[in-house]
Amino acid sequence: MNEAQLEVLFRRRVRGVLGGIVIQLAPTVAGIPDRLVILPGGRMYLVELKTETGRLRPAQVAWIARAAERGTYVAVLHGVAGVLGWVTDRVNETTPEGVHAVSTRGKDRVTRKPRVLPEQELDA
Ligand SMILES: [Mg+2]
Repeated sequence: MNEAQLEVLFRRRVRGVLGGIVIQLAPTVAGIPDRLVILPGGRMYLVELKTETGRLRPAQVAWIARAAERGTYVAVLHGVAGVLGWVTDRVNETTPEGVHAVSTRGKDRVTRKPRVLPEQELDA
C-alpha cells in the first residue's frame, strides 16, 4: 500500500472508528510530523505515517527527539498493520469524560458527551 492509500485508510479509521479529526500539518518546520489527530476525550496525537518500508529522515528523527525531551511523543505508524494497530490501541484507551474545550472566557466553554460507538462499528 502506497502512502496516499495509507493516508485514506488512516483518515477513514480515525473518523469512522474513533470519531476523531485528522489535521494535515503544513511542513513549516523541517521534520515535524505529517498530522495532528484530535480524538474525543481531549486526546491529541502527533502522527507520522510511513509505508511498510518507509524510514524517518534525519530531520524527522531530530524533531521527534526534541519533542520527546519535552514529554511529547510522536506516533510513527508503518503500513497497514501500524495504522490498524494504533487505531485499536486508541479504541481500548481509557478516556476522560465531560468537558472537551475550556476557554479562559467562560462563555466559550464547550461541553459535549463523548461519542460511544456500537460494537459492530469498532470491528469495521
Ligand atoms: Mg510521512
